[in-house]
Amino acid sequence: MDVETIPELPTGAAELLREDGIDSLYPPQAEAVEAGVTQGDNLVASVPTASGKTLIAQLAMISAIDRGGTALYIVPLRALASEKAAEFEQLEALGIDVGVSTGNYEASGEWLASKDLIVATSEKVDSLVRNGASWIENLGCVVSDEVHLIDDPERGPTLEVTLAKLRQLNPGAQIVALSATIDNADAIAEWLDAELVDTDWRPIDLRMGVHYGGAAHFDDGEEGHTREELPVGASESATGAIVRDTLEDGGSTLVFVNSRRNAEAAAGRLGSVVEPNLEPEERAKLATLAEEIRDVSDTETSDDLADAVAKGAAFHHAGLASEHRSLVEDAFRDRLVKVVSATPTLAAGVNTPSRRVVVRDWRRFDGNAGGMQPLPVLEVHQMMGRAGRPGMDPYGEALLLAKGHDELDELFDRYVEADPEPVQSKLAAEPALRTHVLATVASGFARSREELLSFLEETLYASQTSEAGRIGRVVEDVLVYLQRNDFLERDGGTLTATNLGHTVSRLYLDPMSAATIVDGIEHALVVDDGSASGDSAAERRDETSEEVPLDDAEAALNEESASGGFTPASELVDSATAGDDAADGAENDVEAATEPAEDAGPTYADDVPLTPLALYHLVSRTPDMYELYLRSGDRETYSELYYEHETELLGAAPSEYEEDRFEHWLSALKTAKLLEDWAEELDEDKITNRYGVGPGDIRSKVDTAEWLLGATEEIVAELGAPVVDDVREARMRVQHGVKDELLELVGVRGVGRKRARRLYRAGIENREALRTADKSVILGALRGREATAETILENAGREDASMEAVEPDEDAEASVEAASGSGGSGGGPDASADDDANGDQANLGDFS
Ligand code: ADP
Repeated sequence: MDVETIPELPTGAAELLREDGIDSLYPPQAEAVEAGVTQGDNLVASVPTASGKTLIAQLAMISAIDRGGTALYIVPLRALASEKAAEFEQLEALGIDVGVSTGNYEASGEWLASKDLIVATSEKVDSLVRNGASWIENLGCVVSDEVHLIDDPERGPTLEVTLAKLRQLNPGAQIVALSATIDNADAIAEWLDAELVDTDWRPIDLRMGVHYGGAAHFDDGEEGHTREELPVGASESATGAIVRDTLEDGGSTLVFVNSRRNAEAAAGRLGSVVEPNLEPEERAKLATLAEEIRDVSDTETSDDLADAVAKGAAFHHAGLASEHRSLVEDAFRDRLVKVVSATPTLAAGVNTPSRRVVVRDWRRFDGNAGGMQPLPVLEVHQMMGRAGRPGMDPYGEALLLAKGHDELDELFDRYVEADPEPVQSKLAAEPALRTHVLATVASGFARSREELLSFLEETLYASQTSEAGRIGRVVEDVLVYLQRNDFLERDGGTLTATNLGHTVSRLYLDPMSAATIVDGIEHALVVDDGSASGDSAAERRDETSEEVPLDDAEAALNEESASGGFTPASELVDSATAGDDAADGAENDVEAATEPAEDAGPTYADDVPLTPLALYHLVSRTPDMYELYLRSGDRETYSELYYEHETELLGAAPSEYEEDRFEHWLSALKTAKLLEDWAEELDEDKITNRYGVGPGDIRSKVDTAEWLLGATEEIVAELGAPVVDDVREARMRVQHGVKDELLELVGVRGVGRKRARRLYRAGIENREALRTADKSVILGALRGREATAETILENAGREDASMEAVEPDEDAEASVEAASGSGGSGGGPDASADDDANGDQANLGDFS
């Protein structure tokens, strides 16, 4: 189909497509147009990776915007939001204003109201709905990218509920859902009342196969299989041989492995395969790139990546800093880096086509299953689909690796010739329902149990469950949990969120996180619950935390959880008592409603300081923090640390005999210790070594802690507990990675934790000193960097910031270097063994 003949496109659109090298539509795109995608009809497109799904979405959005609506493009990952927005920026030639919404969950995003096309993650959209962003009710077109991720237990439910809410808010809006090829695209289409384009057409042929015994076996050819020699040398691995073979043919290879460590190790080894084949000019370019990578952060990961890149290889995983990731992606696209070893996170979204793909590991460790588990077919097919660069390669080749003849057959059966799994809703998982039921009530979507159920009827979950009454039972348990923790009130049939419930929903917290936080704070601070009737939330929680024997109902639920259904947490009340209590609760609430709410609040001690470690531990215990793993030896280390800090920590500690709960408590303590080390100015590199994590992990822990502590600040204010200042200080310290004496300095733009420490050592202790102190001292403390010093002085509000003719004060420079690290003794659990803990904290622009 010629682009000129597409109906309902605004003037200039066809021309713009041509300028972009698109003269005619790919067959799936033409099918989508015929199904009415530019005329406002709903569509599900289930099409292989890299086969032009984005253009289908673009056509829908352009025409919807031309009809006067706003378009929303929902992406699964934050990193993809900016990538997609950049891609859509070319539409500005058509007068389309593109906005990208990332960042804080709780911000209301009103500034987006003036945009025509908005790109956001599903979490962000969900939060915008909760916060009542006005423009969200005025959408002409909603695109959901990678909609098959509805199947993901962690993030799927948010996408599912968000789509259901957007449809309820915008009954006339067009829905376009893009999916990898899945088995039940028709079910998704039916759920969304959409036309379906379901095809495995690809712009470039893909040969899928298995490498075994010195040959690649493909799924094509006369007799079903083709065998092509691809010998493995005596000192080579199969992966090394494939990479070398591809390279000799001028192509690049993407290697998928199952862990970050494996990705790093593989890149190291594959570098020596690539290195001998490099041209001198490439070597020079790679050397420059390696230095750029080294400068991103001062960690072993950064050094390892730079070392590999210098040899033309790289690794890619979620533990990398985002600068690392984009440098690697760009260099691979430019064909400078010849091989990338990656964890499967790279398979989704990031556009890095490659001549060949090797799926080296097809099993991955699964903590829930307690061992190695085969990857889903859908995931392996997505990895394999990265093979082949249209216009550059004749075809793409993707290979799994077999070690024996049986494995060769197994891999053909399991992956090469298999269909991907069907997508199943995961909404019935407990944390998901907890969160979404509260949000649905708090944002006024449902005001009664009936309204709640009828909203849930519009989800994929409802369309996929055949068991009558199940959703009602599951919802009832969740309502009881929310009521017990004072997030919801039930008055007869009416459901209302409490102030606390509203706060929790607006802050985008899992209600269980909020309950953990409230519980920890009350445990430490409440001296008198102020309620004669004895039904305060704290007491009700204490009652429910008693061990209750499993009754049939709960046993049944547990059984279901084993099959991936509803998983009750220990905190979720036992369903037998739940029934009674729900009735009692309703009565109590009727009584409570007649009293002024303020009277019910407990009394807080105002002389109990909360330490940063205790607060970091509290937020690390919530389900919203992905806590660190206890490695061998850690149990002793952190048990010791725990007994040292026992009285300081918040909440009731589990006994050492409650294995799982105690382990969880210690993992959270390890996570808290990492955060404290960071806030004690311990060097980034020391932290990555001590905890066995990447720099990207520190970043993500710090971000999450900052968000959760910000939420804690609001919850504490809501409760009226007099510790807001303690929480704020702990939050700001972890946010900037500094001790409290540096908080004022890091508030000046351009001053990170390292620079702040240097300035402080030179006697520049606050903003005022930046305005008035001797410039040569400041310049000395900043290691003679004039441009940096000038910017900082300007940001601090100094009138004459010029460093012209200023000489750095040598004493300041020397004292800073000599004393380097003296303020940064991390003093972690192994500080005494860590001779180097006071070493220099080089390079801390850190993540900025
Ligand atoms: P997907 O979203 O399905 O993974 P993309 O939309 O990223 O795939 O498309 C892959 C590549 O194909 C992009 O570089 C895009 O510019 C190109 N492309 C898409 N449609 C066409 C077309 N009709 N003609 C030529 N190139 C196209």
